[in-house]
Amino acid sequence: MMTLGILGGGQLARMLCLEARRMGVRTVVWSGTPTAEPTEGVADILIKRKFDDVEAHEEFCRQVDVATVEFENIPLETLRKVEEAVGLYPSAESIGISQHRSREKTFLREHGIPCAPFALVGTLDELKLAYQEVGPATVLKTAAFGYDGKGQVKITAADQLEAAWESVQGELSVLEGFVDFQCEVSVLVARDKDGQCLAFPVAENEHRNHILDLTIVPARVSQETLQEAEETAIRLADELNYRGLLAVEFFVEKSGRVVVNEMAPRPHNSGHFTMNACVTSQFEQQLRSVCGLPLGSPELLSDTVMVNLLGDMWNPDLKVAEIHGTEGAKLHLYGKSSPGERRKLGHVNVVGGDNVEARSRALKDKLLSLKKS
Ligand code: AMP
Repeated sequence: MMTLGILGGGQLARMLCLEARRMGVRTVVWSGTPTAEPTEGVADILIKRKFDDVEAHEEFCRQVDVATVEFENIPLETLRKVEEAVGLYPSAESIGISQHRSREKTFLREHGIPCAPFALVGTLDELKLAYQEVGPATVLKTAAFGYDGKGQVKITAADQLEAAWESVQGELSVLEGFVDFQCEVSVLVARDKDGQCLAFPVAENEHRNHILDLTIVPARVSQETLQEAEETAIRLADELNYRGLLAVEFFVEKSGRVVVNEMAPRPHNSGHFTMNACVTSQFEQQLRSVCGLPLGSPELLSDTVMVNLLGDMWNPDLKVAEIHGTEGAKLHLYGKSSPGERRKLGHVNVVGGDNVEARSRALKDKLLSLKKS
């Protein structure tokens, strides 16, 4: 029996463990944290120790045949050591690029992959210069460890530069041109050991308070835009000489052209629809590519909408009957017991039949109103 090692113990690891169990693959999760609720009782072995713990490294590497990650913010040194000991897919190099906005944007620019105009800034003076080049509508983003809109501030006039610089606390940052987009889409691709690369259907994403709210598939954009997004994601995976699952987020400009916003070297929230709507889920595909198995079909079987369950619309006391009573709704919960307002607690995939979008929006509104009442 094969054993897959997973770095990180959140919901993405949980769903990967569940798929692995179904497919007869053992899992060892190294969470890097003292608690890892989502993978508790789901991983075959759970190591709740820090990523710089030497004994934890030995325990992990001794037991696994190959390893992957469920999030990118893991110390590069840990990634490199695991890579050397057992093999890591995606590679430490690919993960390292996506850990840092500056490396990521520079990689995109160097490989001719379209992204928003940007400049790297390390001082207030550099920010002022960059603003002349990239402004007037811009977003300043810290280069490291940002997600879901954290470490970001919009700048639309030169007199906002000092306050913005203070708000990122002088950290190395990227000043990015603001893209006046028609919508946001994402593409998940899997690339196998021989370089074969398959894309899942393009997903359209709506955010609420900077966090993913709904994913609508197929994305409601032109055929040309769909094709451009898919081809760009595959080209990016090829340029990275990637193995594993890669998520690429795009802005779709008013003209229909796509520009890359960012990438993630792992399954992605916007790919959860695949769990009920595609022949192969993103987690199964990750497992296949990492473990050296043939890739599965990413074919879409049904129109689908994924509704994210955030803390502000869900608590465990709500009656799940609203969800189970909605035609085609499939509930996925992550086993988290403390529902912070912005925490992702689960999601619902609505599939099959007509009016998938209307059913999903009605369900979301119902859950929001129940939480408030
Ligand atoms: P990020 O964490 O970089 O994905 O940004 C979170 C969200 O902020 C994105 O999904 C967009 O809705 C918005 N955003 C970020 N960067 C830009 C940009 N350059 N132009 C327009 N909107 C942006």
